[in-house]
Amino acid sequence: AQRPLTLLGLGDMGTALARTWLAAGHPLTVWNRTAAKAEALAGEGAAVAATAAEAVAANGLVVVCLLDDASVGAALDGADLSGKDVVNLTTGRPSEGRARAAWAAERGARFVDAGIMATPVMIGNPGAYVLYSGSRALVDAHRPTLEVPAAVRYVGEDPGHAALYDVALLSAMYGMFGGISHAFALIEGEDVAPKELAPLLSEWLGAMGFFVGNAAERLTSRDFTSGVVSNLAMQVAATGTLLRTAEEQGVSTELILPYVELMRRRLAAGGGAHAGEDTAGAITLLKR
Ligand code: NDP
Repeated sequence: AQRPLTLLGLGDMGTALARTWLAAGHPLTVWNRTAAKAEALAGEGAAVAATAAEAVAANGLVVVCLLDDASVGAALDGADLSGKDVVNLTTGRPSEGRARAAWAAERGARFVDAGIMATPVMIGNPGAYVLYSGSRALVDAHRPTLEVPAAVRYVGEDPGHAALYDVALLSAMYGMFGGISHAFALIEGEDVAPKELAPLLSEWLGAMGFFVGNAAERLTSRDFTSGVVSNLAMQVAATGTLLRTAEEQGVSTELILPYVELMRRRLAAGGGAHAGEDTAGAITLLKR
């Protein structure tokens, strides 16, 4: 028999998670602040608790998927967590993950924080995964249950690290979205269909993904110059063309200017000492 669990939160994500556990035969107790969202799941076999405290009392494993950390505090206020295994799938900051872990420990619970790297439609399908950090013993004890909605990627005992990885990935994603947005704005009004540019853009972004490994290698070795094929002086000169083209096309440079300025700052620092680097060295300027 599959092991029972409790799920707090039936928004878009919580509902998708719930359906995978029910479909896999796990006895599931659910609670949601707005009770109407539990009705469909009750029809699919979920037990519906009247309060969060009652839902927590029902099972040893308690999964929480609410809007933000404040809603986790609000929902669990007054619930008896002693002896419970709490898995927090709510998106938050690293500091919130650490504070929530200490909060859970004070209440006698084991705790892991998590970051869901999937949209609700991806849940239960290949490619979806969840980052976990905090109690390794908890993850080991419940791995088969946790793996039902998405693959499990455990990133360490520090309960802040799942959120740290999550935020790092999402921040990189928005940088990429910014570049894609600028590229499409450049062709607007020209006789170039977005669908003509799209395959070239996808292919180019894939090829330029080499920068991830390149940057990791250089940040580890602190060698920013060996084997450079696109030197910083050349790249800064080329970005002048990018900025002027944007002006000629009547497109705002707001999305690409910050990175151009960072490259310029690295080139200007050290009296030309960084001219032969690529752009990985500029990363070292960001940490305040
Ligand atoms: P929704 O907005 O669909 O649902 C939010 C949930 O939080 C609802 O169950 C809502 O209850 C509950 N809630 C909000 N405030 C409170 C409160 N003060 N007390 C109790 N419950 C509260 O969001 P999702 O389900 O999409 O997201 C849930 C979590 O999953 C978030 O942390 C999100 O960042 C994360 N996530 C979502 C992804 C997505 O693509 N959707 C992707 C990756 C992570 P009520 O129904 O009563 O309003």
